[in-house]
Amino acid sequence: MIQPWDIKKIFIDNSLNKDHNPIIQNILKNTQNTSIKIEFIDNPKEIFDYYLKHGSLFEKDTLLVYRHQGKFISSCPGSDGMVCCQYFVINFGIGCLYDCHYCYLQNFMNQPLMTVFGNLEDLFSEIEKKIKGKNFHFRIGTGEYTDSLALDPIIEISPILVNYFAQLENATLELKTKSNHIEKLLNLNHNNHTVVAWSLNPPEIIDKIEPGTASLKERLEAAKRVQEAGYKLAFHFDPMIYHDNWEKNYKELLDQLFATIDTNRIAWISLGTFRYSIGQKEIMQKRFLDDNLTKQEMVQGSDKKFRYFKTIRQEMYATIKSYIDKKDPKLFSYLCMETQYMWEKIYQFVPQSSKNLDSYFENRRIYMESLSKS
Ligand code: SF4
Repeated sequence: MIQPWDIKKIFIDNSLNKDHNPIIQNILKNTQNTSIKIEFIDNPKEIFDYYLKHGSLFEKDTLLVYRHQGKFISSCPGSDGMVCCQYFVINFGIGCLYDCHYCYLQNFMNQPLMTVFGNLEDLFSEIEKKIKGKNFHFRIGTGEYTDSLALDPIIEISPILVNYFAQLENATLELKTKSNHIEKLLNLNHNNHTVVAWSLNPPEIIDKIEPGTASLKERLEAAKRVQEAGYKLAFHFDPMIYHDNWEKNYKELLDQLFATIDTNRIAWISLGTFRYSIGQKEIMQKRFLDDNLTKQEMVQGSDKKFRYFKTIRQEMYATIKSYIDKKDPKLFSYLCMETQYMWEKIYQFVPQSSKNLDSYFENRRIYMESLSKS
């Protein structure tokens, strides 16, 4: 597994108030006695420019902590013509330590620097503006442009976020990871406002195409410890990969999950199959010569993304969904970035709007709250 201690260098923007900035203080504390070099810099743009010209694109060994000038929150980008839920994303950085072969960041990043936004006070004031006084329970996730916990042993951002969300009345934070870095989460007063989520795949898929991430065993062990610490959990079967023995492998994966985790503690399960946008296939083919991922015939959807043929997707979703329902019919699962046609086939209904789909999340949240009170 790739560890944050494998990072070689961390640049820190002098414009952040070093003595009062929790992320910088955490980095200085956690990199003592490691070989990671720290350099304070005046001009982050120079660093970006240097790495844009000289960096080797997939060498993920340098981190820049700087003052982000743009927006921190966005709606989940969803996809044209696909059914979406009302999910919001906060970005505390861009770039990931891991190197999943299907990762869309390959097609999105133009320089190899991993970044963390150090001005969290701006993130928090943006969240407050967004949610304050609204009669709506927000689900807000990290982990769109990075793994939520991959760098946590060094930057310790999870306690900062969990403590902050614990005080908010109408928001749940989702931390989404393929790591097992949960140590910093274990003794927090999270107030049931954080869901810790893992993306899962069968071990042979993790070994082949999710290099650097925690093994399935490590992920499930971490999930169990987080459950014991009282957190709600979520699991993302996304991207599911069509391969020989997929049915047997995903069923075994579900058996392992349900043998480890109490289904009453699972807030949601998402299902999505492998997809890629224009330009990504060529990058993957160049980088991963032995992969079968891009050899499968795919079809382009209304959002221009390529997916497996709908007969394959339908069979995969129906199989996994019925297996989940057999285990616990009350479990809430949903399709991520899928068509109305697929919703109709798998769930026998189509959410009429993102608001409509959101009510299912809300019902599950209320149900879980009632369990914790009884
Ligand atoms: S963990 Fe997520 S963000 Fe990181 S490489 Fe894998 S898919 Fe990309």
